[in-house]
Amino acid sequence: MVPPKLWKLLWKIQAPPKIKNFMWRALRNCLATSENLFKRKIGRSPLCQICSTHPESVEHILLLCPWVQGVWFGGNLNYRINHLEITSLWHWLHDILLSYSNRIDDQNWLATQIVFTCWNIWKSRCKAIFEHKTPSPHSTITATRVGINNFMEAVKLSRSPHITANERTSTSPICWNPPNVGIIKVNVDASWNHNNCRAGIGVILRDSCCNFIAAKAIPSTASSALEAEAQAVLHGCELAHALACTSVIIESDSRGIIQCLNGDIARGAWAIYPILNRIREQQTLFHSCRWSWISRVANEAADLVASLAMARMSNEVWVHRPPSSLTHVLNKDGLPCPPHV
Ligand SMILES: [Zn+2]
Repeated sequence: MVPPKLWKLLWKIQAPPKIKNFMWRALRNCLATSENLFKRKIGRSPLCQICSTHPESVEHILLLCPWVQGVWFGGNLNYRINHLEITSLWHWLHDILLSYSNRIDDQNWLATQIVFTCWNIWKSRCKAIFEHKTPSPHSTITATRVGINNFMEAVKLSRSPHITANERTSTSPICWNPPNVGIIKVNVDASWNHNNCRAGIGVILRDSCCNFIAAKAIPSTASSALEAEAQAVLHGCELAHALACTSVIIESDSRGIIQCLNGDIARGAWAIYPILNRIREQQTLFHSCRWSWISRVANEAADLVASLAMARMSNEVWVHRPPSSLTHVLNKDGLPCPPHV
């Protein structure tokens, strides 16, 4: 019996009704799994149609089938499934949600991640069976991320009707998203020390499959944090152009610089006009180049490269192979596991 506390938690989860409904059916064991169909004498075999080694229960589909291990571990949760801990879906969900944190915000975040992951595993499983293909952990992880981001964006918009058009097109704050096919995403960030005006600029380029293209760490000086962020955007454009990218999205977690680039020049930003002009010149070199805001937490990869720059005396560039200190964040952002090198 699913405890009432868990139902209560489930109905409060930030997720679309169709996903909550799916989770409700999964917890009540009402999904059309091979095992359930076999019991009802509809199916020919209770075995999983993907691995063919175990009865296809709800727990097997969502948590235990070998291919889903990569989805849980490679996704935002970096979660390693322990087969011994799983007795039933609701026990597992109950334990993981209530043992994770006492903070309701943390529990909500985790619950959203879990239900979107389960939903996308189910969709991939059905598609794989229907099309006689092997399910892909990588595309399931990407679909989960995109699903969560789009949903959160919609929630954010519905709560704040006065949000500006620029913010509306900006990237969702939950996690990093790969760009569309053919576009390179350039994440930039700057660390700035107001005592000595030293700055560390970080730039990282990735493609639509989350693959690492290049990164650059640039030690610099700047008279303000905004100037350091502007330098980061400029370096991002320059590196993308040097690597012959034609369509790019430059993503920064500085609202100030994105507002400036969108023509809304902040008061006191006159000091960065020369850099803004150079950025505009760079922009014309691309077939397409747009700016986007990203939250700090989702811009972790660029932030790490910026902190590497702070500790260096000269520029450093990595092409194709990321610095090892970046691997963890890149995997978290969706770099195929094992790391593409
Ligand atoms: Zn299986």
